[in-house]
Amino acid sequence: MVGIGVDVGGTSTKLGLFTEEGNLLRKWQIPTDQRNRSERVIPNIAASIRTVLKEEGYHLSDVTGVGMGVPGPVQPSGYVEICVNLHWRDRYPARELSELLDGVRVELGNDANVAALGEAWKGGGEGTKNAVLITLGTGVGGGIILDGKIVTGIHGLGGEIGHLHVYEGETEACNCGAYGCLEQVASATGIVRVAKRRLRKDQAPSSMRELGETLSAKDVCELGKAGDRLADEVMEQVGNYLGLAVSLLCLTVDPEIFIIGGGVSKAGAYLVEKIKKHYDRYTAISSNRGQIVLATLGNDAGIYGAVKLVL
Ligand SMILES: [Zn+2]
Repeated sequence: MVGIGVDVGGTSTKLGLFTEEGNLLRKWQIPTDQRNRSERVIPNIAASIRTVLKEEGYHLSDVTGVGMGVPGPVQPSGYVEICVNLHWRDRYPARELSELLDGVRVELGNDANVAALGEAWKGGGEGTKNAVLITLGTGVGGGIILDGKIVTGIHGLGGEIGHLHVYEGETEACNCGAYGCLEQVASATGIVRVAKRRLRKDQAPSSMRELGETLSAKDVCELGKAGDRLADEVMEQVGNYLGLAVSLLCLTVDPEIFIIGGGVSKAGAYLVEKIKKHYDRYTAISSNRGQIVLATLGNDAGIYGAVKLVL
């Protein structure tokens, strides 16, 4: 028997064929056709699954199930009220896919939560059943896994880590409408904002100045690591906000492990040390608590977590 994991993204959809033990047999991707409110997305996934199963010598009857992550909130019933990136409204994507695959079991989850499940199962948290993933990308996403299950909460707000309020005094609104969210200071765009604000504060020298408008989060991390004092100061501030968020999560759900993923996590041990320093400070109550590690699955976290929904 095999399982299939599907990670539906705004521009491409990643798929993976797995053994029941969770070994990846083959991965591939197809474009996400957004025309006509993405009406072809589910039929295209079904057709692609049929093609690959045939090529690999399997039948639909060999499939335990298909798990699918989608970029939007998913209600426990599988109902998707709105999926902004795909222009979906009032859909039951799992039911639709199951009908196109002769009734094969299909389970659905939010993409960030599903990635957390993947990292907890086979990634940075391998072997743990209780993990929190914080993804530092264009935005800040994440997911909470307790006892091997995704925690979405009653209203789907569980795991919306990017919108934890971590600082006062912000004057620009976050995408969510609030002020002072973690995403505003710890996402790739957030790090650049913090850096630009620091540069405007005074005339202190920094190699960040030479990069002007092209300054990226990667530049800030690399310069900080290389000893640029201002860049390091910016990353210290970012580490402070992340350390606070990790501490709040630790004292709320107390997982075995915190996994840091997303493009910004490429800063590696440098970033982890910065977060840890402040996490330690905010969580002085006990040193017996969840450790911080780096994610290891990269863009494959979604397909691993998706297939785990049906294995
Ligand atoms: Zn927000």
